[in-house]
Amino acid sequence: MEYRDYYKILGVAKDVSEPEIKKAFRKLARQFHPDLNPGNRSAEERFKEINEANEVLSDPEKRRKYDELGSHWEQIQRDRDYARQYAQPGEGSREDFDLRDFFTTFFGERMSGFGGGPFAAGPHPGGDLQYEIALTLEDLYHGPRKLLSLSVGETCPTCHGQGMITTSSVREGKRPVVTSAQPCETCHGTGQISKQREVEVKIPKGVKEGSKIRLAGMGDKGIRGGSAGDLYLVVRLLPHRLFRLNGYDLEADLPVWVDEAALGTQIAVPTLGQKVLLKIPPGSQSERRLRLSGKGLHKPHGEGTGDLYYRIRVMVPEQASAKERELFTELGRLRIERGNEPSIRKNLE
Ligand SMILES: [Zn+2]
Repeated sequence: MEYRDYYKILGVAKDVSEPEIKKAFRKLARQFHPDLNPGNRSAEERFKEINEANEVLSDPEKRRKYDELGSHWEQIQRDRDYARQYAQPGEGSREDFDLRDFFTTFFGERMSGFGGGPFAAGPHPGGDLQYEIALTLEDLYHGPRKLLSLSVGETCPTCHGQGMITTSSVREGKRPVVTSAQPCETCHGTGQISKQREVEVKIPKGVKEGSKIRLAGMGDKGIRGGSAGDLYLVVRLLPHRLFRLNGYDLEADLPVWVDEAALGTQIAVPTLGQKVLLKIPPGSQSERRLRLSGKGLHKPHGEGTGDLYYRIRVMVPEQASAKERELFTELGRLRIERGNEPSIRKNLE
C-alpha cells in the first residue's frame, strides 16, 4: 500500500485554505465524475481518489491527523498487516480495498462512501461493515442480546445516491442533455451518508475473544436497488474484576480463614449468574480448587458449558488478639502432642 498524498491528488499546496480545497475538489469532481465519463475506468479511479482526499482535507480534525501521522508513515505501514487480517473477502475490488485500507489505517473508521458510491450505473451493492464489540463475561454468560449504535451508510437523500446534482435540458424529440453537474453537497459526491442505526445483536453461544459475528444484510445499504452489505462484529472481551478465563472455564481466588479451612464451612460465592453456596470441605489446603460444574461459559455447537473453579487461599489473622494467640499456642501444643503429623517441610530438609 502506497502513501497517498492527498494534497497532490487535489493539486493544492500543503498550507492551502479550506475554501480553496473545496474549490479544487469541485473542479476535479466535475471533471472526473463517472456520469460525465461513462465507461472510463481511470476517470472512475481518479474520482474515488479525489473523494477520499476531499473527505480528509475538508475535515479540520482529519486533516490535522493526516498531517501529523504522515511523517510516521513507515510505522503505520507495519501495523497494516494487522489491519488486513480483518479484511473480508468480497469487500470490493482490489483498488477499493487499498483505498479503504489506507484510509482506515489512518482514521480507524470507514470512508463515508465506503463500499458504495455512484461509481457505476445500475445497482451497486452496499459495503460490508466491521466493528469491534466489547463484551463482558456476563454478556457471554447471559448471552442473548446487546443493543448497539452503529454508523451505517445509507443512500444520500439529496441526490438519491447519484453523487451529483445534474440539470438537463430536453429538446423536442431528442434525448435529455446534461447541461450542468455539481457534486452533491450533502454527501460530497459519494452518494452515501452515514447514519446512526440501533442494532440489536444476538450474541451466539460459544463466542470468545476474537470471534467474528456475521449479521447478513446489516451492512451499508445498497445503491439503486443493490443488495446491502454484511455487518461483522469482532468480539473483544473486557477483563473481569473477579474471574479469569481459561478456555470456557472460569477461575477465581477464594480467601478462607484458617478455622474455616480446618473445620469446613459453606460460603456464598458469586458466579456470572446468581450467588451459590459453595461447600468448603474440612481440612482444605491453600491452592485446592473447588469446582462449580456448568458455571463457566457456553461452549459452541451445543457442547455444553465450562466450569467455575474457586481456588482456596487460607488466611490467618494478621494481628491476632491476646486470646487468639493463646488459642493458637494451644493448637500448636496439641499438634506436637498428637505427634503423627508428617513434616510439612520435608523438601527443605
Ligand atoms: Zn448526495
